[in-house]
Amino acid sequence: MPDPNGFLRYDRRLPARRPVPVRISDWREVYPPAGEELVREQATRCMDCGIPFCHDGCPLGNRIPDWNDLVRTGNWDAAVESLHATNNFPEFTGRLCPAPCEAACVLGLGGQQPVTIKQVEVEIADAAVARDGLRPRPASAPTGRSVAVVGSGPAGLAAAQQLARAGHTVTVYERDDAIGGLLRYGIPDFKLEKQHVDRRVAQLTAEGVRFRTGVEVGVDVTAAQVRAEHDAVLLACGALQGRDTPGTPGRALRGVHQAMAHLVAANRVVAAAGDGRPALAVLPDGTPIDAAGKHVVIIGGGDTAADCLGVAHRQGAAGVHQLDLYPQPPTERDGARDPWPTWPWVLRSYPAHEEGGQRVFAVAVQEFVDDGTGQVRAVRIAEVTVEKVDGRRIVTPLPGSEREIPADLVLLAIGFEGTEEQPLLAQFGVTRNGRGAVDARPDWQTDADGVFVAGDMHRGASLIVWAIAEGRAAAAAIHAYLGGVGELPAPVDPARQPLAAR
Ligand SMILES: Cc1cc2nc3c(=O)[nH]c(=O)nc-3n(C[C@H](O)[C@H](O)[C@H](O)COP(=O)(O)OP(=O)(O)OC[C@H]3O[C@@H](n4cnc5c(N)ncnc54)[C@H](O)[C@@H]3O)c2cc1C
Ligand code: SF4
Repeated sequence: MPDPNGFLRYDRRLPARRPVPVRISDWREVYPPAGEELVREQATRCMDCGIPFCHDGCPLGNRIPDWNDLVRTGNWDAAVESLHATNNFPEFTGRLCPAPCEAACVLGLGGQQPVTIKQVEVEIADAAVARDGLRPRPASAPTGRSVAVVGSGPAGLAAAQQLARAGHTVTVYERDDAIGGLLRYGIPDFKLEKQHVDRRVAQLTAEGVRFRTGVEVGVDVTAAQVRAEHDAVLLACGALQGRDTPGTPGRALRGVHQAMAHLVAANRVVAAAGDGRPALAVLPDGTPIDAAGKHVVIIGGGDTAADCLGVAHRQGAAGVHQLDLYPQPPTERDGARDPWPTWPWVLRSYPAHEEGGQRVFAVAVQEFVDDGTGQVRAVRIAEVTVEKVDGRRIVTPLPGSEREIPADLVLLAIGFEGTEEQPLLAQFGVTRNGRGAVDARPDWQTDADGVFVAGDMHRGASLIVWAIAEGRAAAAAIHAYLGGVGELPAPVDPARQPLAAR
C-alpha cells in the first residue's frame, strides 16, 4: 500500500550534478548515481493514483506507480522486472527522456512538484545491471522465420530484441561502424556514456541478434538481396536529414556547419580516446570542426543545440552564443495555453546551460559574415517577431535591430526534415511523405508488403521513448505477420500522438 502522504513529507529532490568546473574537464555523465536513500524517499512521494495520468504521458505505458512502490519498499528485483516489462532500455530513457510522464503526474495538478519518475527509472535500470549484468533472455525455441532490421537506433534495437526473444532470427544492418544510431554518435557521452549501449549490444548478441555494421542497405547490399534473405523487413533509419538555411547570405563560408557534423566528429574522438584526452575533432575529409579557442554560435533551441553547447565547452570554446528564433518561454506552465497533463511550453534549461554560454531569444540570422578569406568571422542577427498565418510561420525583423556577434564556428541546430532521401527507399518501393517521413498502415507496414517502418523514420525527429515504443509495436505487428504464436506487446499504434490540448 503506497504512502498517500509521502509528497507532503518530502519535497522533490534530485541528486546534485557534478560541479561545472570538474565536469567540463571530462566527458563523463553529468549526474552521479542518486543513492538508495534518496531514490526510496522520492519514490515515496508517489500517491499511486487511482487514475495515474503519468501512464498517459508515457508512450511505453510504463507501470510507474507499481515500480515507485516497489522501490519505496526496497523490492528492487520486482522493480527491475516491472520496468523491463514495458521498456527494453530504461537506462536510455531514464537518462535522456524529457519525461512527459512527469509533466502528466497528478501532483502537478495541485501545484506540487511531480514525482522524480525519471530518476527512479534510471536507478532501477542501473540496479538491473548491478544485480545480474543484464542477463540475456534467449527464446526457448526458434520459429524458423527471419527478420532484417535496417538501422540500429533505439527503434531498431527494441524491435530486434522483441523479435529475437519471440524466436525469430534477426539481423540488424547498420551503415555506421558501431551500433546505436543517435545514441552512439549523436548524443554526447556527458548525457549517455557508451558502455550503456555496449552492454545492450552484448545482451542482444547473446539473445541471438546478428549485427552487420558498415553495411548500408541500398548501397552495400540491395533491398532485393535483403528481401530474398528475410521473411520481413523493418526500416528504422531515423530522421537524419538536417534542416539547412541555404538562402542565408554566407552559408557557404568555411566554419558554418550542420550541428550533427560537429556532434558526430566530437563523439568519434571521445570514443577513440577511451579514457585519454581526445584529439581535435575533424570531419571525415580532415576539416577541423573543433570549438577549442573559438567563438561559437549555435543556431537553434532544442536538444541538439544544447548538446553542441556542452560539447563546445568541453572542447574549450572561447565563448558560445545560442540563438533562438522564438521569444523566451515562461518558467512556469501557462495553464490556459497548455493545461495539465499536456507537455507545457516552458523555458527548458539543460545541464549544459549552467556550464556557460549566452542564450539570445527572438533573433534570426541575416548573414554569415566573411572575414575576407572565405571563413566566417561573425553572424549578423536581427530581433524578430514570429507569427503563424494559415499554418505558415512568418518571421519579421525589427528595423534597426541588427547587430553582429563574433563567430569562428557556426553550428546549425535548426531541426530535421525527416528521413534522408537514399537509394534504399526506391529499392524497397517506399516514398517520403510531405514531412519527409515514411507512412505506415495501421499494422506498421509501408506501401510495400512485408516492409515495416518504425521510429523517427515514421514519426519524424522525436524522442527515444517514442522510438522504443514504435519499435516494440512494429515488432508485435511483424510477429503477427509471420504467424508467430501469441501476441507481443504493442504500446502504441501508428496514429498515436503525444497528449495535447488541441
Ligand atoms: C543531437 C541529438 C540529441 C538528442 N537527444 C535526445 C534526448 O536527450 N532525449 C531523447 O529522448 N531524444 C533525443 N534525441 C532524439 C533521439 O535520439 C531520436 O528520436 C532517436 O534516436 C530515434 O531513434 P531511431 O531508432 O528511430 O533512429 P536513429 O537513432 O536515428 O537511428 C537510425 C540508424 O539507421 C541507420 N541507417 C540509416 N539508413 C541506413 C541504411 N540504408 N542502411 C543501414 N543503416 C542505416 C543510421 O546510421 C542510424 O544509425 C536527440 C537527437 C539528436 C539528433
Ligand atoms: S501520476 Fe504521479 S503520483 Fe500519480 S501514480 Fe503517477 S507518478 Fe505517482
